[in-house]
Amino acid sequence: MTLEKATAEKPLLVLATHNPGKIRELRSLLAEHLPELDLEKAVVGAAEVGAPDVKEDGVSFEENSLLKARAVANHTGVASIADDSGLAVVILGGAPGIFSARWSGKHGDDRANLDLLLAQLADVRPEHRAASFVCVASLVTPEGQEIAERGEMAGSLITTPRGAGGFGYDPIFVPAGLNQSAAEISPEHKNAISHRGKAFRALVPHVVEYLRLVSEDTAR
Ligand code: IMP
Repeated sequence: MTLEKATAEKPLLVLATHNPGKIRELRSLLAEHLPELDLEKAVVGAAEVGAPDVKEDGVSFEENSLLKARAVANHTGVASIADDSGLAVVILGGAPGIFSARWSGKHGDDRANLDLLLAQLADVRPEHRAASFVCVASLVTPEGQEIAERGEMAGSLITTPRGAGGFGYDPIFVPAGLNQSAAEISPEHKNAISHRGKAFRALVPHVVEYLRLVSEDTAR
């Protein structure tokens, strides 16, 4: 069976997210390696397969990323990709880290999270405001293969939010070597240098290899 035929029956890969931007990004990363594949059908999001919400009770980006991918792979019987990310501030010993999305106590309140972090760092001088965004992207297959790849983007934190793009802590994060905040650069620019872009690009060769193996197996 060819990759096209395998796709027609069910998706080959589920991305464990409800974020359409992440799904689009993964499809475009895979497109250049797998031109024969109908990626709209082959790669779908968690909502399309009714994937369950997962309790992220791991203590590292790796653990949480794998927890999410494993849960979706178990639920669907299809290979799954997940990511987990956050901001690690050096002077705070790596916090907010895995708690980035709920640093202010309320999950996903980007503005409250950013305001609290700025208040905590109010007296910290510029030379001590180093931070990195971190992302771990992982692939879990129904055959039990588990791979996790890490990407980082180093930079420093400014004292006043700048820019209307991006999300989360982007308006107070200036990537190393730039003068603009991550909320002031284009999505394409951010993708090229970001923690998430790096982690996904590192994972792609493993995903391509897996998809080719699956299609060869079904051909036998
Ligand atoms: P999650 O990986 O989707 O759970 O995101 C974790 C949290 O980390 C987000 O809610 C943001 O607060 C923060 N975060 C992760 N990546 C970024 C980024 O690229 N820009 C800004 N904030 C980010």
